Amino acid sequence: MEFELTPEQLEFAAITERWAREKLVPLWTQEADDEGVFIQEEWDAMAEFGLMGLPFPEEYGGADADAVTLCLSSEALGKAGVDAGTTLSYGASTILCGVPIWKLGTPEQKAQYLPKMCTGEWIGGFCLTEPGSGSDATSMKTNAVRDGDEYVINGSKTWITNGPNGHHFVVTAVTDPDARPRAAGISAFIVDADTPGFRVGKKLDKLGCRTSPTSELYFDDMRVPASALLGPLNYGFMLVGKLILGWERTCLLAPALGGIHHGMEVACKYALEREQFGRPIAKFGAIMEKIADMRVAYEVSWGLLYRVADMLTRDEACLTEAAILKTYLSEAAVRCSEEVVQIHGGYGFSKEYRVERGYRDAKLGTIGAGTSEVQRGIIARAIGNF
Ligand SMILES: Cc1cc2nc3c(=O)[nH]c(=O)nc-3n(C[C@H](O)[C@H](O)[C@H](O)COP(=O)(O)OP(=O)(O)OC[C@H]3O[C@@H](n4cnc5c(N)ncnc54)[C@H](O)[C@@H]3O)c2cc1C
Repeated sequence: MEFELTPEQLEFAAITERWAREKLVPLWTQEADDEGVFIQEEWDAMAEFGLMGLPFPEEYGGADADAVTLCLSSEALGKAGVDAGTTLSYGASTILCGVPIWKLGTPEQKAQYLPKMCTGEWIGGFCLTEPGSGSDATSMKTNAVRDGDEYVINGSKTWITNGPNGHHFVVTAVTDPDARPRAAGISAFIVDADTPGFRVGKKLDKLGCRTSPTSELYFDDMRVPASALLGPLNYGFMLVGKLILGWERTCLLAPALGGIHHGMEVACKYALEREQFGRPIAKFGAIMEKIADMRVAYEVSWGLLYRVADMLTRDEACLTEAAILKTYLSEAAVRCSEEVVQIHGGYGFSKEYRVERGYRDAKLGTIGAGTSEVQRGIIARAIGNF
């Protein structure tokens, strides 16, 4: 790996972290987390700061930032202690929905969607998972049938981030049911939430990332113009998947890297303040060990994440590297957030210190965007003929 962060990138990360600590973190409330409410004020502040369109070209209102810069700013949000629900909704809109439109969209599609995504007026989402197909995404049932100048889409999706409040979605649907492999018969479409036949289903109650709204979506004889097709017919899924995999396993996970750092900071502060047996608990070897392990996890994850971000910036294939990064970082985040709770003892178990939120939020990393088990399959197959 040969890359160096520029002074401008480092300065941008520092400014983002400072701004997030001062302006964003205070907008989170325990009540919003308890009730599972999206914090619009946080969204608006992030949009005003310029985060929504960070990777998109300037002509659409973006900042033309590369993947490394995007990861640095997202890591900064996690370092500052911004809630993972908000960073998840941000990632689902900008990365899962915006990046495919930017990379695969026609000039008309880009002009239609990207400017208002950059200003934060329009929130996007990405629809792959269905009630019967999660890890085995290509067994999806949602289908799109051509009818004149339109496609008629029928089916349902679940676990859709920003489902209840999204303006538009990149939706995957089978367009050639006989294709083998099945992935070669699945296309992607851009669907507006106000399309007749589009229906938001049940809002899902979750363990963590509670300020990010998640829901089922239903498509009943939903007609979209043929111009809503994103990328080539029958190959949209493969191209979108290939594109998104790298981006979601780095940029979407970067806040979790920052979260490890934030947890370490919070745990150190507490360990130095809390006294037992006549001295700060930080003086006990067992506590020092936990903090040292957090630092190791942060440093190793940092190297893995920015290696993949650099590969993305160079347009290099990074499927295996992204799987290694995702597995290690997401599991390290779960482990570290658990130790932060442990260091806080009983207070860690209460809501008072907010560290239980980090523990609940971290778990999504090992499930969303391809589970740890699926990632290990990718890694093993890259090593040998399994
Ligand atoms: C909060 C949240 C937000 C989400 N947001 C979105 C979104 O915006 N858009 C979207 O499309 N999806 C979204 N998802 C869905 C997410 O991507 C899926 O939950 C994930 O891919 C796993 O699918 P599943 O839940 O159906 O689990 P399953 O695939 O049913 O897996 C169940 C268990 O079996 C294991 N397993 C499955 N296949 C294998 C295998 N081949 N080898 C070994 N073990 C295996 C899994 O690892 C897991 O432990 C979201 C999920 C959550 C929880």
